[in-house]
Amino acid sequence: MSTPAFRKPSRSNGGIRSGHIIQTVFSVAFLLATLFTGFSPKMFSGNFGTIISELLTPQPEGNGTVPTTQKQVRIGVVSGHWGNGDDPGAVCPDGTNEKDVNLAIASLVRQKLEAQGYTIDLLQEFDPRLDGYQAALLLSIHSDTCDVIDAQATGFKIAASSYSRDPNLTDRLSACLYDRYGSITGLPYRAGSITVNMTDYHAFRAIDPATPAAIIETGFLYLDHSLLVDHPDVVADGLVAGVLCFVRSESTQPIPTP
Ligand SMILES: [Zn+2]
Repeated sequence: MSTPAFRKPSRSNGGIRSGHIIQTVFSVAFLLATLFTGFSPKMFSGNFGTIISELLTPQPEGNGTVPTTQKQVRIGVVSGHWGNGDDPGAVCPDGTNEKDVNLAIASLVRQKLEAQGYTIDLLQEFDPRLDGYQAALLLSIHSDTCDVIDAQATGFKIAASSYSRDPNLTDRLSACLYDRYGSITGLPYRAGSITVNMTDYHAFRAIDPATPAAIIETGFLYLDHSLLVDHPDVVADGLVAGVLCFVRSESTQPIPTP
C-alpha cells in the first residue's frame, strides 16, 4: 500500500497520434488473436460470423445507433461481495458497506448497458454461473477500504486475468477501463497498491479462459466516499464507457506500468 502510485499522463497532440497507432496495433492484435484463438459461439446468441465481423469493424463513436448484432453481445458484471453470506466487504464507521456500494454501481452499469442493447448477467461474488462462464467480457466491481490510511488512499486500481487465453484482449480491456474510468471520474490510478487478491481473483480461475476478464477497485470508501456513495451514476458512467471502448474497439491509451 506504500508504493508510489501513478498519475495519468496529460493528453497532448503526440498522445493523440500515438493513440491512433496504438489503436491500429490493438486492432491487428485483436484480429489475429481472434483468428487464432477464436471466440466461442456460446458467447453470443446470434450468428457467430456476423457478430465477429461487426465486432471487428471499427464503429464511429457516439453515432447513436446500435447494430442488430451488438444486442446479442453478452457481458458479465460481478457485484463484489454480493450474495456471499454475511460478507459486507469493506465497512465504514457510519455503516456504509462495500457490498451495498458495489451493488448500487453494478445495477446502474447493467441498466446503462442494457439501454445500449447489450445482454447483461449481473452476477454474485461466487455466482455458480461463473464456472466456465463465456461472454464478450467479465468485469468485477469492488471498492477499496474505508480505513484512514494516508493522503494516497484515493483512486482506482485494475487487474486483468492472468488466466486468460489471450493477453492482448485482457490488456485492451484494462487499457479501456483505465482510460475511460480515469477520464470520467477524475480519480488517479493506483497501480502501486494492486494486491494478489486482485491479480489472482477467484473468478479469473473459474471462468472460461477465452473470456477476457478484469477486476476494478472503483475508489477508496474513505477519501472517495462522496463519489462512490453520492454519485454512483458517475462511477457507472466511467465503467460503462470502459466496457463500450472494449466491445466497440475504440482507440485508447495503453495502461502505464509502474
Ligand atoms: Zn471488495
